[in-house]
Amino acid sequence: MIYQPPMPLPGEHAASIMYRYFQMTRFTKFETMMKSEYNSKLDSPRRLWQPVFSMLAESFSSKYSLARFIEKYTNITDYSLFLDESVFKDSSVENMLNKLSIFKFHNALNVSQDLTWRYCPECAREDDEKYGTTYFHVAHQCFYKRVCRKHNVLLKKSDPYHFSLPPVSSKSVVASQYDKNTDIALSSWVDALKEIPQSERKIRAVNLIHQKICIFSYDRKDPYHVQRVQYVQNRLAKRFNRSHFMPYFSWGPLASGLYPLNSVVGLMGFLDPAKHFHPMIYLMLIALFLKQDELDLSMQYSLVSSNVTEPVPQVVSPIEITDLINDNAA
Ligand SMILES: [Zn+2]
Repeated sequence: MIYQPPMPLPGEHAASIMYRYFQMTRFTKFETMMKSEYNSKLDSPRRLWQPVFSMLAESFSSKYSLARFIEKYTNITDYSLFLDESVFKDSSVENMLNKLSIFKFHNALNVSQDLTWRYCPECAREDDEKYGTTYFHVAHQCFYKRVCRKHNVLLKKSDPYHFSLPPVSSKSVVASQYDKNTDIALSSWVDALKEIPQSERKIRAVNLIHQKICIFSYDRKDPYHVQRVQYVQNRLAKRFNRSHFMPYFSWGPLASGLYPLNSVVGLMGFLDPAKHFHPMIYLMLIALFLKQDELDLSMQYSLVSSNVTEPVPQVVSPIEITDLINDNAA
């Protein structure tokens, strides 16, 4: 329990509440307080600051349950977007937090947004005027967002080696229409996915993508399968690497220094429901392959099993092979 922490400001991140609490203590360094008092490591938004989040939530327990606090004041539900109970079997929220704070996604890409705390210079100025302090917003830490939607400017990265509240005098850069569109598209996918029960999100999305590629059980020895997957991978590689997604990530070392789509099993690996990749991979695959009404359509059918082999009837049509060949030639 944390004794009388400051009241959260609208949309404030728990890390920021902790920093403002630190400003009221005798400690001279935030890192020292976090380590010695709360046994928590100061880290990027990707890391989950256990156990300090539960302690902070406990201080507000008359107002919010732990689950509600986590949902409202952290980005944890973004990172657990595609994780189901197979990862967190019989978990209380507390156990889930502990597991998540050490959880490792399959190494395939590095998401730029995970590395630093981010802020909008315009919001910082407004907050300072209105509340007498700047603070970190939960919405600005989403790994799928690069733009402040209120001010249409690009979010700025704060110093990764020194955690403190956003500065008031930093210059803002106007977001392009392209940046805004990507941001809106990714966010609306996240909203749509959050409407689906957590245990079904990945399985449904992966299933629909399988329907698009039109290969359910990939056979490496079947030349038709190999060629079809290769075509789809080439299309993906082009779109991932030359597109509006580029500022969101860089490829991590999955296949001996090569980016994953160089290997024939790259895409099929991403679609293996037993593996857990960073949610950004699934979001990009979904955004490239699917349309929102296709996901809605699949919701008319309930899932009979968590097996990816046709748990929902065919609701999307496969990508035409001629389409893929033309795409490759282009
Ligand atoms: Zn803003």
